[in-house]
Amino acid sequence: MKLKDKVCLVTGAASGIGEGIARRYIEEGARVAIADLKLEPAKETAEQLSAMGPGTAMGVAMDVSDEAAVNRGVADIVKAWGGIDVLVSNAGIQIVHRIEDFPFAEWKKLLAIHLDGAFLTTKACLPHMYAKQAGSIIFMGSVHAKEASPLKSAYVTAKHGLLGFARVLSKEGAEHGVRANVICPGFVKTPLVDKQIPEQAKALGISEKAVVEQVMLSGTVDKEFTTIEDVAEIALLFASFPSNALTGQSLVVSHGWYMN
Ligand code: NAD
Repeated sequence: MKLKDKVCLVTGAASGIGEGIARRYIEEGARVAIADLKLEPAKETAEQLSAMGPGTAMGVAMDVSDEAAVNRGVADIVKAWGGIDVLVSNAGIQIVHRIEDFPFAEWKKLLAIHLDGAFLTTKACLPHMYAKQAGSIIFMGSVHAKEASPLKSAYVTAKHGLLGFARVLSKEGAEHGVRANVICPGFVKTPLVDKQIPEQAKALGISEKAVVEQVMLSGTVDKEFTTIEDVAEIALLFASFPSNALTGQSLVVSHGWYMN
């Protein structure tokens, strides 16, 4: 098992990609803190995944944009399991508007969840990783960390920002054995994307089928969605890589939508 007894914090793990990463880590023997906005869904997911084994999970209530909530959640995990080995900063939302129509409050909300969330969870976990001279921090980027699409100014800005943050962290963390990397998925069918399809159809004045075929998948090599399992496999690679050679990187998993 690649993550036996490793303590992993995955944010936004009650749903979608975060849940899939938690599931993959538990298959590899990890102890996973399922952190999400509300305790009940986090606990439900943790119970389901714990029952699966061989690893184990616990639910944690954590709004990643709230410093006190993040610090409290991380302290609870450390108290229960003695440290943090892996952080997956995954919690995220999508809000689509043209720039001229983007409500400032919604711009700030999106940046707070993606960027403040990455900063606050990293800041809270680092002392525990530095104490052990080891750790892996993984940020959930997107193809939108490298590409742009209309209507997604806040999201594209946030995801580009994560690349810079991960690069600084990889330089600061190196002497303490802490690695930082970014996963950049293409479109994955999760509640976040299901919500976007009708919103984009309305905003662009096209059908929902056209959003999927012409907006979401037109640039891929095979017109396929990336899957949660695809993303979880990359998250396992970054978490379990055996040396500091793999740091400061961003890996695109998108059916060839973006190639570099
Ligand atoms: P999702 O909506 O299924 O899951 C997101 C989770 O984050 C939810 O459980 C939600 O409750 C939680 N969350 C939202 N705000 C939070 C907060 N303030 N604090 C803690 N938790 C919070 O979405 P998903 O598609 O699984 O997205 C997960 C990540 O993957 C996001 O960062 C997203 O930007 C990224 N991503 C998604 C896709 C895709 O196509 N689905 C593609 C590339 C990147």
